[in-house]
Amino acid sequence: MFNVDNIRKDFPILQREVNGRPLIYLDNAATSQTPQQVIDVIVDYYSNYNANIHRGVHSLSQEATDAYEQAREKIRAHFNAKKSHEIIFTSGTTDSINLVANGFSSILESEDEIIVSALEHHSNIVPWQMLCERTGARLKVLPMDENGELLIDELDNLLSNKTKLVFVNHISNALGTINPIKTIIDKAHKVGAAVLIDGAQSCPHIKPDVQDLDVDFYVCSAHKICGPTGVGMLYGKEEWLNKMEPYRGGGEMIDQVSFEKTTYAGLPHKFEAGTPNVCGGIAFGAAIDYMNSIGFDNIANYENELLHYATEQLLEIEGLKIYGPKELTHKTSVISFNVRNIHPYDIGTLLDKMGIAVRTGHHCAQPIMDFFKIPGTIRASFMFYNTKEEIDQFVASLKKSILMLS
Ligand SMILES: *Cc1c(COP(=O)(O)O)cnc(C)c1O
Repeated sequence: MFNVDNIRKDFPILQREVNGRPLIYLDNAATSQTPQQVIDVIVDYYSNYNANIHRGVHSLSQEATDAYEQAREKIRAHFNAKKSHEIIFTSGTTDSINLVANGFSSILESEDEIIVSALEHHSNIVPWQMLCERTGARLKVLPMDENGELLIDELDNLLSNKTKLVFVNHISNALGTINPIKTIIDKAHKVGAAVLIDGAQSCPHIKPDVQDLDVDFYVCSAHKICGPTGVGMLYGKEEWLNKMEPYRGGGEMIDQVSFEKTTYAGLPHKFEAGTPNVCGGIAFGAAIDYMNSIGFDNIANYENELLHYATEQLLEIEGLKIYGPKELTHKTSVISFNVRNIHPYDIGTLLDKMGIAVRTGHHCAQPIMDFFKIPGTIRASFMFYNTKEEIDQFVASLKKSILMLS
């Protein structure tokens, strides 16, 4: 059974104080906290079998290689990829997207078009702009409405036989909007375009099935699902990964090297040049185990309760405006808001003095802020280890901050 008090005991950091108050951590969309089960795996790795992988004949290297490849298999099973070599370890979502953008440099031609949504994180905008500069392809934007929801019918006007790629996040980090990715994938496939889904915000809340989605690329970061920073993954359909050129050259990614000609290794090694984040990869696998031990249905139900609870209380505050879907079934446990014309930074600073961590600013999504004509928002994002008592405390502290700033 889901018991938040027991779950909280797994997270040592939740016991600490900030500025003399118990920490209330509501910045989970930026990074999640790490349970003891994952910390133990990291300590065990460096205490007992730290070694370089895929190279040594000695026992430590073999143990590290086995653990790393088992983690890849865990990730494959979690996302239901067909083959484990369709899972590429990267340093995170940003790195995964850059890998695909670079891989497409030799595939795109100058008349081609690529489509991104208006709801994207900068890491799902800038690499594509750079790709367009390199190839002469054109970037088009799928617009959104006042509720921060994509105007999905517009996609029909944007798609054509020139469209080669479509990029959308599964869930918006700035507003929490859940995008209709299945519809987007189906429409894009009808014109022969490949689709990349940025799953950085969905993986903490739902368990995607890449075969059922029939998605071409799916990416995420371990640190948003209770794993360490500096590691993430790219799922890619084998046929695409085979077509793409490697992004980085070096050790581990080659078959034969001479000064005349080098041939590349097979998947997944072709895209994993150099010594990877071995410990990070193994801990990523442990984080997936941890999330599954809580259960994604439990996570979704409980976080939904927190979302309703917090939204109701916040909407009672005079002058408070929440950005994003009004219909709570269209979003996850992210609340992005402003209070009258008080600067988000001022509220965030006062909340920090009271031990409460929220995010303020543009959330790496300036085009969304421009759309609403605001400099930024305050963003409270909840994870399954947050409680209603914390939300009460957050709302009370927010009211206090507003009074101080009025
Ligand atoms: C966090 C995030 C990213 C970037 O992830 P990194 O781990 O910083 O590479 C990209 N897209 C979305 C939607 C995110 O939430």
